[in-house]
Amino acid sequence: MTKPNGTSASLATSFLPRDGLDGLLLGRAHVPAKLTGSVAGPSPVWITDHGVLDISSLAPTMADLLADEPVARLREGGSFTRLGSIDDVLANTLAADRNEQVPYLLAPIDLQPVKACGVTFACSMIERVIEEHAGGDPAKAEAARSKVGKAIGGEIASVVPGSDQAEALKAFLLNEGLWSQYLEVGIGPYAEVFTKSQVLSSVGLGDQIGINPISSWNNPEPEVVLVVAPDGRVVGATLGNDVNLRDVEGRSALLLGKAKDNNASCAIGPFIRLFDDTFGIDDVRAAEVSVEVLGKEDGFRLKAKSDMGQISRDVLDLVGQTMNDCHQYPDGFALFTGTLFAPIQDRDAPGMGFTHKIGDTVVISSPTLGRLENQVTYSSDAPPWTWATGHSAAANINPSDTDEVIGEFARGSVADTQAAIEAAEAALPVWLGLGILRRSDILDQIGNMILARKAELGQLLSREEGKTLPEGIGEAARAGYIFKFFAAEVLRQAGDLLDSVRPGLDVSVTREPVGVVGLITPWNFPIAIPAWKIAPALAYGNTVVFKPAELVPGSAHALAEIIVEAGIPAGVFNLVMGSGREVGNEIVTNPKVAAISFTGSVPTGRHIAAQAGIRLARLQLEMGGKNPLVVLDDADLNTAVDCAVNGAFFSTGQRCTASSRLVVTRGIHDRFVDAMKARMEALVVDHALKDGTHIGPVVDENQLEQDLKYVAVGKDEGAELVCGGDRVERATPGFYMTPALFTGTAPDMRINREEIFGPVASIQLADDFDHALALANDTEFGLSSGIVTQSLKHASYFKAKARAGMVMVNVPTAGVDYHVPFGGTKGSSFGSREQGTYAKEFYTTVKTAYTFAG
Ligand code: NAD
Repeated sequence: MTKPNGTSASLATSFLPRDGLDGLLLGRAHVPAKLTGSVAGPSPVWITDHGVLDISSLAPTMADLLADEPVARLREGGSFTRLGSIDDVLANTLAADRNEQVPYLLAPIDLQPVKACGVTFACSMIERVIEEHAGGDPAKAEAARSKVGKAIGGEIASVVPGSDQAEALKAFLLNEGLWSQYLEVGIGPYAEVFTKSQVLSSVGLGDQIGINPISSWNNPEPEVVLVVAPDGRVVGATLGNDVNLRDVEGRSALLLGKAKDNNASCAIGPFIRLFDDTFGIDDVRAAEVSVEVLGKEDGFRLKAKSDMGQISRDVLDLVGQTMNDCHQYPDGFALFTGTLFAPIQDRDAPGMGFTHKIGDTVVISSPTLGRLENQVTYSSDAPPWTWATGHSAAANINPSDTDEVIGEFARGSVADTQAAIEAAEAALPVWLGLGILRRSDILDQIGNMILARKAELGQLLSREEGKTLPEGIGEAARAGYIFKFFAAEVLRQAGDLLDSVRPGLDVSVTREPVGVVGLITPWNFPIAIPAWKIAPALAYGNTVVFKPAELVPGSAHALAEIIVEAGIPAGVFNLVMGSGREVGNEIVTNPKVAAISFTGSVPTGRHIAAQAGIRLARLQLEMGGKNPLVVLDDADLNTAVDCAVNGAFFSTGQRCTASSRLVVTRGIHDRFVDAMKARMEALVVDHALKDGTHIGPVVDENQLEQDLKYVAVGKDEGAELVCGGDRVERATPGFYMTPALFTGTAPDMRINREEIFGPVASIQLADDFDHALALANDTEFGLSSGIVTQSLKHASYFKAKARAGMVMVNVPTAGVDYHVPFGGTKGSSFGSREQGTYAKEFYTTVKTAYTFAG
């Protein structure tokens, strides 16, 4: 890529609008894995004076953001990752050899359709008529030009499309043999609006723009591109170059697809400027647009300027003609409003006009929209579309060492998910028909294979999730035992046979599978949670579509391999890795999925409940926690500290059952704080696989940022940080953080109310047992609740009165058995319990049958 003009000024000066950052500028950027903390991918970004900010926490795609109230959402702010300075991001965007480890800009439009208006630029309309008639002969061109000019008798721009004057002009030109399809779409009643094939054939700033090699006569089409929300509101604008293949589309309107539907066939960008009080529709109507073409080999220079006043239709008329009762766009759309410039400057020889040459640099700029710069190539030589615009695979990064890529894992699409669901449905009779002995054997075999490979699976798990190696191996073993437990349950399925209240009848009550079940799991227990859903689902005769969290595809894949190797019939178990938005959403909304078991965060759980509720799907949700551990005056201090340190900080605090609130009575408070501080300072935070590590890294950059943000929130709220709460460096680059402990906290502080999901705990001072119990229950969550005491009376009373699904006495709030029910109350859970024999409530449906034997 050639260097932009004005090399002494910063790049931002060259590419931003003239009023700099006064307006709201959005774009999309490739964000490398080390910044997302998980997989590399595209994010919506906001260009600000603090640099380029990743705003994917507001909305994962530009389409989502624009469908909302983008200006208001941005002004509300949020926690945004800074990707770098504007200059650094632009420099990598424009580099000939982009560094994939540094963010760069992509075309700012994502999932929306890109629509384009045909000829609306009055002068270009006339030129095309002349071209049609002259067929490259300069003398004929001149004759046609003068004839058409006379026929119009003035400025074509002043002819109102669809008016009587336009009709009269059409009749005259038809008579003269000078009518053309271009004039029909220019001055006829209807605008020409077409869909530019695949949205993602568009490229952004610095990319190569592609020309179909079948064309040898073509030119840039500088345009203003409107950005339209799903409800038809124009929310912003950007620049575009919708290259015109004059010899292809000029030959026939039917060849438009060949001209427009090719790889990199248009450029859009560099940014979307949102409508606000600095920029609106009237600024679009008045926008000046310049184009500059710089020839690589021949030193050719073309410079021209035009403005939106020159197009034959109003921009809002074009939007209305694009979206109306006949056409809806649920994702919104981008609309090329029509070319602003017809290049007639001769390039190769007099009278031959202009055509592109490969290697041309094309610069389109506007004072209010910045500068879009691209180079021309053949579309066959343009880079193929990559997952940056449509994921297909993603790198799995080790949080203990972000230089280590564990592997590349496929990312499924909606179509893949549908295929998996179809396969699961087709396999239902196969699985049931296998009989309980074979089904039990297969589950037992899966359990045995997991146990035999627990060291290897545990290591993989620790590498991708970050828990210590003993924790990883322990979790893998637990998954093995869960399968063995449910292998036995297959054989134990009993029903009831009862007498009827009516003489001569008997009644049987039996359990049947519910059908295809969709299982959606989080990243923090990448083998155990899938196992405690998959094993009962299969044991009770269901077939499975399983979607693991994006951060942990490795463990899911290894588990799937084992399940297949154990001899499960094809279609009974299906793994679809991919995003929640695509794969997860399809599982939740597909009517063939009879039941959904989800574990994850509260917002995702609520969203899924709303979706599943619409179609009355069976649903089970296990979500967040804010679990208290009460320490009473009579507690054994060592036991209390053991429970608190283990419950709050092991597994890096990333457990839904973590003791993030330590409720401590006055008599033991100071001794407890001192002992905790001493113990915490001795904890080793390091690489998950290293001997002696007590606490591995946080799972990714986003989670680490969230944890550190809560440490700052705690301090701002007036809590005292006793120790920890710092990001630290180790021999390998990773997401390391020292465990943090707050004292002097009040129940209404955010650190005591919101789930942090990291190694951060706060101490609440209680006056006595009753006060401690009230504080423990003062939360909207209700997963696990613990107490450390030597008093049987208090322990018993606590077990009865704690408002939680699981209660622990003298053991950490986290760490549970696999053969008994798991789950919570209040905001933590919804639906019936997981694990143990209670799992059958979810994975079976009950049938009552009456028989009269005669
Ligand atoms: P998350 O809610 O972000 O994601 C969970 C799963 O849901 C992932 O597989 C994700 O891809 C998927 N998902 C996201 N959007 C979706 C959508 N629109 N439709 C369908 N699926 C979608 O949670 P996470 O960050 O992976 O995990 C951390 C959370 O999990 C914490 O809140 C923690 O408390 C909770 N958790 C709860 C339990 C429990 O048993 N209560 C156990 C472990 C973790």
